[in-house]
Amino acid sequence: MDRRDSEPEPMETDQNTPDNTYNDNAEEKRQKKKQIRHNKEKQRENIMTSGNLFIITFKNLLQNSNAQKEVMCHYMERVLHSIFFFGNIYSPPISPDNFLPDQRTEKFKDVFPKPFSEYNTHLPRYTPYSILLEYMTESLKPENPDAFLKKLVAVNESLWKSFDEEGNQPIANDFTLTASVVTYCCVKDSKDAKVLKKAYGSSMSCKGKTERRIMIALSTLHVWDRVISYAVCRQGNGLPITFPEQVHCNAYSFITKRGGYEEIPPCTKCNKMYIVKFNPEHQAHNKEERWLYGNCAENEAFSKLLQTHKDVKIEICIRDDDGKKLMNREDIEKKFKEDYEDKMQREVKQLLTSRKFKFTSGEWKFFTPSYFV
Ligand SMILES: [Zn+2]
Repeated sequence: MDRRDSEPEPMETDQNTPDNTYNDNAEEKRQKKKQIRHNKEKQRENIMTSGNLFIITFKNLLQNSNAQKEVMCHYMERVLHSIFFFGNIYSPPISPDNFLPDQRTEKFKDVFPKPFSEYNTHLPRYTPYSILLEYMTESLKPENPDAFLKKLVAVNESLWKSFDEEGNQPIANDFTLTASVVTYCCVKDSKDAKVLKKAYGSSMSCKGKTERRIMIALSTLHVWDRVISYAVCRQGNGLPITFPEQVHCNAYSFITKRGGYEEIPPCTKCNKMYIVKFNPEHQAHNKEERWLYGNCAENEAFSKLLQTHKDVKIEICIRDDDGKKLMNREDIEKKFKEDYEDKMQREVKQLLTSRKFKFTSGEWKFFTPSYFV
């Protein structure tokens, strides 16, 4: 099975300038430059289309599920802020107005003014798709993954409904804000396999390597449980994190052609980072996956499970090959702080500065919605 959490990046133009062009003649060089410019413009259009579709789809989802006014504002403000933030750090920046058709901009500004004034001064904690997933799990309370994925398919169909000028439906990778993989993890009763606790997570759904590195760094510092942050920062070096035996994990990849989800095994990176009951199990192969540590949906799902269920968190540890406990949860958290916290802070600051993000008075400010639910 081919795992696809991790968008190949066919149109990432900031890295695809060839360095072996000195032999090319002038015409070839001109054509290549033209192609790069064309790709860049196309990518920019895709980001705007994706943002626009996401806003409209999410608004419809909130309305159709009869979300209360406060709930609607809470989630809509977060989604708008996150989309505008990614537009702002794109190079060259995309302004909030570009994500909304003319007649809608003023209306959105009136109802949700905060994201319009804070997208360039405040940071998001989540990508838009993670916020959508959170709304769907918190408010719609799906019974099981099958019921949940069915609902998610309907949302994804709205997100992928646009067509290009030749009438081709865009591929998932063009949709910069949609996660292709969703992970479900749960704690099962060891006697009757009844699900006692559960959590969902999505893969890092934002376009561009720099954008993903920013979100992974912000997540390790300010969002994820520190045990997950430690596993991500170690990048597969050292012994894995061991979950209690009752924890199970299933990942699902969205197949656009079929319009449905398919179960997939964990990637090599996740398999190196975590000892947990993956279903299906990891399948060994020689390819090194190209995505970054921290990109996979497993990290968000595990983090949510640990943050909402302290009893699971208490049992987390690192064991040696003979099963002897080497580090408990507190040791792991301490080690993250000592070894990685400063490094990640420097990294995210440098990345954000490279994308002209303004730190007002040198502070890190995170976006908070007007209503808490
Ligand atoms: Zn993975």
